[in-house]
Amino acid sequence: MSLNYPPRISLARLPTPLQPLERITEKYSVPHGGPKIWVKRDDLTETAMSGNKLRKLEFVAGAARAQECDTLITCGGIQSNHCRTTALVGARLGLRVQLILRGEHSGAADGNLLVDQLAGAATAFYPPRQYFAELPELFSYWQNYYTERGHKALCIPTGASDGLGIWGYIAGAEELLNDCRENGFEPEHIICATGSGGTQAGLTLGCQQLGVSTEVTGFAVCDDEAYFQRKVREDIAHWSELSGHQVDENSLNVQVNAKYIGPGYAVADEPVYRTIAEAAALEGLVLDPVYSGKAFYGLLQELHSGRYRDCENLVFVHTGGQFGLFPHREKFSFLA
Ligand SMILES: *Cc1c(COP(=O)(O)O)cnc(C)c1O
Repeated sequence: MSLNYPPRISLARLPTPLQPLERITEKYSVPHGGPKIWVKRDDLTETAMSGNKLRKLEFVAGAARAQECDTLITCGGIQSNHCRTTALVGARLGLRVQLILRGEHSGAADGNLLVDQLAGAATAFYPPRQYFAELPELFSYWQNYYTERGHKALCIPTGASDGLGIWGYIAGAEELLNDCRENGFEPEHIICATGSGGTQAGLTLGCQQLGVSTEVTGFAVCDDEAYFQRKVREDIAHWSELSGHQVDENSLNVQVNAKYIGPGYAVADEPVYRTIAEAAALEGLVLDPVYSGKAFYGLLQELHSGRYRDCENLVFVHTGGQFGLFPHREKFSFLA
């Protein structure tokens, strides 16, 4: 593969480890004829900047530097991992950060929002209805606000999922397949949680460009299958437009599993929380309730149903999100 990578600022500690989950494999996969389960530890891209967003933000930061921007503007929920990572990346690079946050906030900050504040990011809160109805206007408002004050701002879309951000997971796919090769296999399946679609888009495109037959499946944590089919292809088309690289749309294998969304975004039923507790107790692997825990719960259900029977190796990408665990502390009352 000879892709022309755009400017990138190295921020993540790469490569992240690839580890076998031996006890999970024994308990949940082997009895159903399933594969060896591995985990790609993208929760270890950094400490406070941890998670999947950092891979994308390396390219976003590269663009900010190339365009001589001094400000980053982005958006997300109050417990957004993407906003927290952007806040810290800004602080690390000496850029100011404006966050457009969805939700009401009062009292002491918790989880990711606390880290946003520690990092010195400016925060503006909007009721969900207004946020969803007016997001483009809110970006314009804040961009003008900084322009009028003599700054140059780069706007980063939700989750940094667009034709620029997905470079992070094209590179991530290359790294992951290399890790697997070093362990003597090519995985039949890669699984990740999908929320704004960019991680899935980058991994899917990366595998296609590398010419492997590995199938990437995004386990949706919100929206529905049609949404992700469209969003992943949209990000890839945008990537093609920005980079000038051609994509064979017909050989793009976009796989979405939307069976485990549960009650909605950032809302989960007790079995998801029990899976989080079990992964921690069995493997020392701490998942989050919004993304990785939900997807991992879905994976265990699929293994049980025999969906991955007769495969040899499956890699689950742990995309991070641990700061978001603590605001859900009350859901773990079954541990007491
Ligand atoms: C954002 C996020 C995801 C989803 O990644 P997208 O690229 O937005 O689809 C998964 N896991 C965690 C922990 C995240 O913060």
